[in-house]
Amino acid sequence: MSSPPERIRWTLRSEVSFGCPVEGCGKTYLSYHHFDPPLRVKRHDNPEGMVALCLEHHKAADQGAFSDEQLRELKKNPYLRKTGGDHRGSFLWRRKQLVLLAGGNFLLGSKTLLTHGGIRVVWLSTDTEDNELLNLDLYGSTGNIILCMRDNDWLTDVPLDDLECRVSGHYMKIVAARWNIWLSIRFDALNTNELAEKVKEISDRVNSYAMKNMPEVLTGPGASLLGQEEMRELEANMMIRGLTQFIHYDDIVLCTIEGDLAWPNTATLREDHMQYGKGSIISGCISAGNAGAGISI
Ligand SMILES: [Zn+2]
Repeated sequence: MSSPPERIRWTLRSEVSFGCPVEGCGKTYLSYHHFDPPLRVKRHDNPEGMVALCLEHHKAADQGAFSDEQLRELKKNPYLRKTGGDHRGSFLWRRKQLVLLAGGNFLLGSKTLLTHGGIRVVWLSTDTEDNELLNLDLYGSTGNIILCMRDNDWLTDVPLDDLECRVSGHYMKIVAARWNIWLSIRFDALNTNELAEKVKEISDRVNSYAMKNMPEVLTGPGASLLGQEEMRELEANMMIRGLTQFIHYDDIVLCTIEGDLAWPNTATLREDHMQYGKGSIISGCISAGNAGAGISI
């Protein structure tokens, strides 16, 4: 995976005020487009002939949507500078408590957000100002990395035509249809009460999913408990207490991860359940605490 040195990336990010420079865009997650000369002509890391763009506009640039003159103009007069905005913070949260939701599990305090088959897929790093930065490794069905992000920067080796990336506000969805992969990450700001409501909602959904899709559970020793409203209520309340004892202030960011992954096995990840491989359904169980591996599928 080749990527420009950090010093060059920083130069290119700061010249566009940390957001895509295309009129009306300003998206935070940036990739690096070589236009003068293009990479297919010569490999280089000369910032004069490079521009930071979001993945969609990078794809458009690869397809010739912008002339070199237009790209130079974007470097000189980026969209965010004109609007006075600086989107450095739009996908970042500082000193906020991150609660992770995936596959029916809630998790707190882990820098690793998602591992799949023991391999890290989504994780956080921290910059010098204590901002949390996003890192991502997305694998194709043969174990090749098709898309990766380091410290909020996109790095990719596959043609961007094979990928679709939607970023809006605090939501991001990557689709690699050729590999039957998609992954979405959403950040929502919540207070403690709103988090408790979300835990209750997911707890109910986990239970109804289990009852609908895992009839074998209904014949097991816990069967009678699952169906009882009071028991579910009790379970959700215990969960909320368990989670909130680790919450020390009211600024919470809930990070929800969903998707279909292809390697090292097919895996399905939704808010209220997850599935690994073809046969086994793992219904989410709700658990709070510190876990080094994040949500593990
Ligand atoms: Zn853009």
